[in-house]
Amino acid sequence: MPEHEAMLPDSAQVAVFDEPNGPFRLTRYPLRPVADTEVLVRVRMSTICRSDIHSWQGKRPSPCPGLLGHEIVGTIAALGASMTHDMREAPLAVGDRITWSEYFVPGRSWMRDVLDMPQKAPGVDKYGHLSSDTAPHHHGGFGEFCYIRPDSWILKLPDELSDEEATPINCGVATMCAVIEAADIRIGQTVVIQGLGLLGLYGAALAKSRGAALVIGVEALESRRQLGMQFGVDQTFAPDAVQIPAHGADCVIEVCGDPNALVSAMQWLRPGGRLVVAGLVNPNANVTLDAHRILRQCLTIVGVHNYHPRHLPQALDFILTHRSVYPFRTLVDRSYPLANISEAMTDAAQRHVLRAAICP
Ligand SMILES: [Zn+2]
Repeated sequence: MPEHEAMLPDSAQVAVFDEPNGPFRLTRYPLRPVADTEVLVRVRMSTICRSDIHSWQGKRPSPCPGLLGHEIVGTIAALGASMTHDMREAPLAVGDRITWSEYFVPGRSWMRDVLDMPQKAPGVDKYGHLSSDTAPHHHGGFGEFCYIRPDSWILKLPDELSDEEATPINCGVATMCAVIEAADIRIGQTVVIQGLGLLGLYGAALAKSRGAALVIGVEALESRRQLGMQFGVDQTFAPDAVQIPAHGADCVIEVCGDPNALVSAMQWLRPGGRLVVAGLVNPNANVTLDAHRILRQCLTIVGVHNYHPRHLPQALDFILTHRSVYPFRTLVDRSYPLANISEAMTDAAQRHVLRAAICP
């Protein structure tokens, strides 16, 4: 065993919940040596994503005892023998601070290699989505350590980026890079964003950087409408008072999670416009709409779930090059020790905080 691994404890804590909406408890599982194609990370920060809250609340199937947390940054505690470089071919060493894809895939497949959608490959698994009973037990952000499984995509983080700026990169920011690519925003366009939560705020900043002339934010909460103005939103409206320019919107991005938003979006789009659906993450998002409008207005409707590995370096580069323009650091607005995760979850679920961070 290499010398640096000798410093590792025999076991480490994770925070798990035993039933939907139940309290979290700390429990301990052994740490084992890394496989050749694995990395063991000491978690520095893991932020509570809206999908962690949905899993905890039982809005989607989630195995128990559940170990959540997929927006993670950490430092390398042990490196498998073949894990010499990150996805950009930068050398990796113990002590490096890294982020990595929120999912890992079980080897090669038609979906991964030919259709180029590794995020939808059969058997794909995600960090922070498994039962803590599943080996190697440390596979979520809400614990002291996390094993990065084979066939993940790893990126080294530059020192100037704070943990607060870096932690949402591998879910929130990368997902919005996929959304913005699907939206195909061109210089001078009008973009409407439905929902100014974390995804909407990143989306506004990305749309603006991509050349949108007018970014309109639609959001029920007054405080988030104001926040939007710091992230590239030009005009904000409550959902029942939206005013769209006469020429219509070139693109509407749904990240609010309300299926009825699709009906409004189709009214706002110009002929030939695009609607990107990225917030309807829970099943049974049923809605009645006049599909004739899709035909008559020549609309394109695209769904985006997760992201391709190429969006991870895009997300990192975007945050790095725009951190002086937009106050990304302020989005992670409160941190909690691992022992206080129940309080953090409740605060996040009740929207008392924008992005709660767990710092084990
Ligand atoms: Zn997430």
